[in-house]
Amino acid sequence: SITPATLSAISNSAKKGILFKGGVHVEKLSHIKAIALDKTGTLTNGKPEVTAVYFDENQNTEEILNIIQEIEMESTHPLAQAIANYRADKLSERKKKNIDVINMKNISGNGVTAIVDNKRWMIGKADFVGKESAMIFHNGIANSLAAEGNTIVFAKVEETIVAVFALKDNIRQTTKDAISKFKKHGIHTVMLTGDNELTAKAIAEEAELDQYIANCLPQEKVEHVKSLKNKYGNIAMVGDGINDAPALASANVGIAMGEGTDVALETADVVLIKNNLAKITDAITLSSRMNRIIK
Ligand code: ADP
Ligand code: MG
Repeated sequence: SITPATLSAISNSAKKGILFKGGVHVEKLSHIKAIALDKTGTLTNGKPEVTAVYFDENQNTEEILNIIQEIEMESTHPLAQAIANYRADKLSERKKKNIDVINMKNISGNGVTAIVDNKRWMIGKADFVGKESAMIFHNGIANSLAAEGNTIVFAKVEETIVAVFALKDNIRQTTKDAISKFKKHGIHTVMLTGDNELTAKAIAEEAELDQYIANCLPQEKVEHVKSLKNKYGNIAMVGDGINDAPALASANVGIAMGEGTDVALETADVVLIKNNLAKITDAITLSSRMNRIIK
């Protein structure tokens, strides 16, 4: 049964934009010692934009871009949408070209593959397309763009890297404030991301996080949540994507961004209606006051 104090904490929190799916989560949230946060869509806006593109000079640039955009149009990943919409004025032109994308596959946490004109295409991170091939082409530039917080996406046809995209996804306005509030509450902050080491480091530094774990495949997020539990006791996980749902379920308190996917919203114990991470600490303050009243 729910106490009047708990009920009041739930309703006060709801007014502030944080929705608890039960009284037990209010109590649990006040005891968390560490918080794991997904990067894309959680710490960042989740709306990356293409900031730079490099093409292999031996290729037909327009043709390459058309094919890449046609493939990425079939993926709902935010990076794919940004690439597909890059120079959107070219969209109508592209449609006329009649590009046949066959057997397009999403490889979770890595990228996509497809067949176009009997050739095998791979679009995704360096580890996915093959570290060596990614190094050959503009490695220096890719690294410096990554160090500035850009996500780097490589496009490969058969064995050749034909294009490199840099995409920037800015951190949410409320992120820094939220992280500093967590720290003031003595809560350890960790970012979990599928993105590469350099990009992860840049974003973690900008957000002033205590720790970051890069190159994290979706299933590995669960493992990291479990080891954080072993180390810190009670932990919360915040995420927005389909990929984050298993990690949300394995944390003591799973928190979804209101803008997140249905699966994340359904799995979570708590929903941040306005995507404002700082509301989590407001709720913690409220719930520890409530605990004091009860005790
Ligand atoms: P995050 O954990 O940051 O939300 P994901 O696990 O979804 O990221 O993806 C990890 C990485 O895989 C991305 O940073 C990107 O390099 C690559 N990737 C995934 N899907 C795509 C795609 N559709 N197109 C290009 N790259 C992709
Ligand atoms: Mg995400």
